[in-house]
Amino acid sequence: MADSSSRWTNTAPTPPRPSPSTISTRAAFSHRTCKCSLPYEYKIVIAGNHELTFDQEFMADLIKQDFYYFPSVSKLKPENYENVQSLLTNCIYLQDSEVTVRGFRIYGSPWQPWFYGWGFNLPRGQALLEKWNLIPEGVDVLITHGPPLGFLDWVPKKMQRVGCVELLNTVQRRVQPRLHVFGHIHEGYGVMADGTTTYVNASVCTVNYQPVNPPIVIDLPTPRNS
Ligand SMILES: [Zn+2]
Repeated sequence: MADSSSRWTNTAPTPPRPSPSTISTRAAFSHRTCKCSLPYEYKIVIAGNHELTFDQEFMADLIKQDFYYFPSVSKLKPENYENVQSLLTNCIYLQDSEVTVRGFRIYGSPWQPWFYGWGFNLPRGQALLEKWNLIPEGVDVLITHGPPLGFLDWVPKKMQRVGCVELLNTVQRRVQPRLHVFGHIHEGYGVMADGTTTYVNASVCTVNYQPVNPPIVIDLPTPRNS
C-alpha cells in the first residue's frame, strides 16, 4: 500500500471540475453523474481521481487538513462517506475487483499515476504495478480510469504521453484482455487496437469539459462458455 501522505500536496494548482467515469457494459461513457436510469441491463462503474469520497485513504488525510482544498468534501465526517458505494443502487461498482456478466469477465480499477491532489493517485512504478498485479489473467474487459502508455494518452499541451507504462506491460504482456476501456485523458478520446486488445478512451468531455463526445459502442463476440 502506498504512503498516502505522498498522494497529494497542498501546493497543487486548482484542479479542473469533476467528471466521473461511468461506463455501461457496452463501453458507453456518461458524464458527471451515474445515470442509473440509462436503459442498459448492466451498468458497470468505476471511480477515478474525481471520486474523492470513494478513496477512503484520501478522505482520511483530507479531513485532517486545516484548509479547504476541496471545500465541498473537506469537512465531511467519515460517516458521511464511508458507505458511499451503497449509493450506487442500480449498477455494479468495481474497485480492484471483478464481475462476470453474460460470460464476460470484467475487472475495474480506479488508480492512475499521480495527478495533482486528487483521489486514487499512486506514484509511477512499483506502487501502480502492485495494483495492476491484482488483475487476474483471463479477464475479457479491463476498465481502468487512466490509459496505458502509448494508447490514447497524448496531451498536446504538454507534448507528452502520460499513460502508465506498468499498465501497458500488464495489458500487453500478461492479461491481454479483448477490450481495455479508460478515460481520464480527455484529449485522447477514441479507439485504437494492437491486434489483441482494443483500447477505448471513452472520455465524453473535451479537455475543456464540454460533454460533446458521443458514447463509444463496442460489440464483442459472446464468450464460448456462456
Ligand atoms: Zn481523471
